[in-house]
Amino acid sequence: MNAPLICDLLVVGAGPAGSAAARAAARQGVSVLLAERRRRVGLPVRCAEFAPLPVGKYIDWSGPEITVQTVKAMRTFLPGADPLENLFPGAMIRRDRFDQELARQAVTAGARLETGLQIYWRTPEGIWARDGNREVLIRPRVIIGADGPCSQVARWMGQKPGPFLIAAQVSLKLAGPLDHTRVYFHPEISGGYGWVFPKGDRANVGVGLEAGRSGALKAILEGFKRQRLEEGLVQAPARPAGGGLVPVGGLKDLWQENLILAGDAAGTCHPISGAGVGNALISGELAGDAAAAAVIQGTREPLKNYRDELGSLLGPSLSRAAAKRREMIRAWNGADFNGLIRKNWIAFREYYRR
Ligand SMILES: Cc1cc2nc3c(=O)[nH]c(=O)nc-3n(C[C@H](O)[C@H](O)[C@H](O)COP(=O)(O)OP(=O)(O)OC[C@H]3O[C@@H](n4cnc5c(N)ncnc54)[C@H](O)[C@@H]3O)c2cc1C
Repeated sequence: MNAPLICDLLVVGAGPAGSAAARAAARQGVSVLLAERRRRVGLPVRCAEFAPLPVGKYIDWSGPEITVQTVKAMRTFLPGADPLENLFPGAMIRRDRFDQELARQAVTAGARLETGLQIYWRTPEGIWARDGNREVLIRPRVIIGADGPCSQVARWMGQKPGPFLIAAQVSLKLAGPLDHTRVYFHPEISGGYGWVFPKGDRANVGVGLEAGRSGALKAILEGFKRQRLEEGLVQAPARPAGGGLVPVGGLKDLWQENLILAGDAAGTCHPISGAGVGNALISGELAGDAAAAAVIQGTREPLKNYRDELGSLLGPSLSRAAAKRREMIRAWNGADFNGLIRKNWIAFREYYRR
């Protein structure tokens, strides 16, 4: 084993949360190690790739390298009802390039990015990581867990992963251009929904459902895809386009000793819509600033403040959504399916009623 790696801040995971955190902290002059277990940041893509407009505050995504097309609205489809259209502007992005650009900006700001480095163990000597057969000991002063839905850092804090939606997706050619995203609810897509998100001349077509029903995922995606083919919206053949876990439990406990969490590791993904890129950036940037302040001031107070600040910023909307999700799951197989979705899906006015 080589000499331990010493750094002020270890950021675990170079997704949007981790890279935003590393960028923010490095800009304040602290030494940052950004550890990513994948060999290439952003790959494979596990995302439907819609990013809402405010994400542009964190990264210039307007160029064609990242943005494939803009989107104006979202259409919601319920069985036997006319679709509802809401303004919901944003962009369909190349998520791999989006993540890579954020990581590049973190490095430009001074962070050291190590890909292929998996963090796995915490002992009194430090944090242990491996890169193939190479064992690495890291001695950071502060650690940000931005390691996604099954966060190792959250486990060190005594937290269990989940609850989750499980999602799968394919890419299909569109029959014609689409300027909106489409979301479909059906009793079979248990606790979740199907989507068609346009990406130029193709679309990401997927379903997400309660993780407990993962055995049905393949068949439900197949059925959903067949319906979209039959209605002439898309054309075969399909290409696989990734899938994964979406944490839908709401905010976790964000701080313990010298550890803080950001992004999916912190439960910032919206429990109803499953959208997580925006909140990953918000929490990542705040976490990076807090970690840098903790290092510079030599106290843990900024980490505690981060917990309080993010809690008041995102806590109310995420806990409302988590409560809505519990209500939705309880009544999913009830008589009034469309009424249930109207009360519990963000596109309907009923969602916002007290
Ligand atoms: C199928 C699917 C579709 C989605 N579609 C959308 C969408 O259209 N719009 C949207 O806003 N959100 C979407 N989401 C949610 C969104 O992708 C996440 O909320 C977002 O990626 C969270 O960013 P993050 O940085 O917190 O975590 P991640 O993007 O998961 O990044 C975590 C990183 O940590 C790394 N890592 C994990 N463990 C370790 C370790 N031990 N050591 C080192 N590195 C580690 C991982 O390799 C990964 O790169 C979707 C999710 C899924 C699964």
